[in-house]
Amino acid sequence: MTRPHLQVPDLAQFRRVVVKVGSSLLVDQAAGLIKREWLEALADDLVALHRAGKDVLVVSSGSIALGRTVLKLPKGDLRLEDSQAAAAVGQIALARTWAEVLGDRQITAGQILVTLTDTEERRRYLNARETIGRLLDMRAVPVINENDTVATTEIRYGDNDRLAARVATMASADLLILLSDIEGLYTAPPHEDPSAVLIPVVPRITFEIEAMAGGAASELSRGGMRTKIEAGKIATTGGTHMIIADGRIQHPIDRVAKGGPCTWFLTPSNPVTARKKWIAGSLEPRGTLHVDAGASRALMAGASLLPAGVTRVEGSFSRGDCIILRDPSGAEIGRGLVAFDSGEAGQITGRNSREIEAVLGIAGRSELVHRDDMVLVGE
Ligand code: GLU
Repeated sequence: MTRPHLQVPDLAQFRRVVVKVGSSLLVDQAAGLIKREWLEALADDLVALHRAGKDVLVVSSGSIALGRTVLKLPKGDLRLEDSQAAAAVGQIALARTWAEVLGDRQITAGQILVTLTDTEERRRYLNARETIGRLLDMRAVPVINENDTVATTEIRYGDNDRLAARVATMASADLLILLSDIEGLYTAPPHEDPSAVLIPVVPRITFEIEAMAGGAASELSRGGMRTKIEAGKIATTGGTHMIIADGRIQHPIDRVAKGGPCTWFLTPSNPVTARKKWIAGSLEPRGTLHVDAGASRALMAGASLLPAGVTRVEGSFSRGDCIILRDPSGAEIGRGLVAFDSGEAGQITGRNSREIEAVLGIAGRSELVHRDDMVLVGE
C-alpha cells in the first residue's frame, strides 16, 4: 500500500501548479475578515514559484465566509439563497484582495468564476481552458472560484477540492497542492485515534485509502478528507500529481518545497498523455476533416491543424466535439477536439488563418484543431 522509501517528486520539477486555498485558512471565522498576514506570506510562496518560471493558478474559497459577515447572516448552515447572496458580496472582496497581494508583488491576477457545466461540458470546457491558457501565456495568475451566486444545489460542486482537481486537469497542470487544516492523510482520523500516522505517499488510491478518509456521511463530507480523496482521484486520473499539506502555518508551500510533512498522491500518467487517452478512447467522433499532404506532414511533425490544410469537412459537429483526421489516401491519421462548428469549419476550409475573421465575422482561434487537443495514430 504505502512504502516509506517511495521517492516523492521534487517541487522544482513541475511546470504548472494549482494551489487550492480553503476558507478556513483564508478567513478568520470569528471576525469574518481575511487573514492578511498569512495571505501575504502565501503570496510570497506563490511568487517564488512564479519566479522559478512555473505557471501558477490559485483556486480560492472564501466568498461565502466573507459575505456572510458583511450581510450579518446567522452562524450555521445557510439557505441556498443566502449563500448565493453571501457569495455575491464576498467574491468582490476576495478578488480585490488577491489582486492587491499579487499586484504588490508585480503579478497580475485574473478572476475566473466557473460552474460545474464549465468543466463538465466539452464546449464550455474548451472556453474556460482557452481563457486560462491565455492568462498563463501572459504570465498572469488565474484566481478561480465556483460561481456560487448562480450555482444551485443540483449543479454545483459545493467544495473547492474537487473543483480545484477539475481545474488542474483542465489546465493540464502537473501538480495540485491542496492547502488544508491537516498535514495530510492519516491512517485514521487523528482526533479520534492517537496512534494514527501521516502517510507520506499514496501511489494509488485504493479502497483502503478511501476508508482512511472516513465515511461519506460524516461532518467531513464537505471540504473534509473525503472530498480531498475524491479530488485525488480526479487529479491522478487526469495525469496530475496532488499534495495535501498543512496550510495553517506561514509559508506552507515553502515548507513542502523543503521536504516538510505532507501526503503525495502520485499519478502514473502526465496531463498530456491522460488527455490524449481521453480523446482517443472515450469520445465518439462526430465528423471527419480531410487534410492535404502538406498538413498531414505538418501534423506528424507536431503542428496544429490550420484551416488552410483542410480539403473537405464531413459530418455535423459542434465546437469541442471529437472528429477524425484523414490524409489524402483516406487513412485515419488521428483524432482531435475541433475548435469550430461544422458549418464554420466548412466556410474556412482551405483558407488562410488571417481570413477567418473576415469570413466568419468573429475573431476565433486560428487553429481548427489545436495540437494539445489532438492525438495521432500510434501516439
Ligand atoms: N466556493 C465556496 C466559497 O468560496 C467554498 C467552497 C469550499 O470551501 O470548498 O465560499
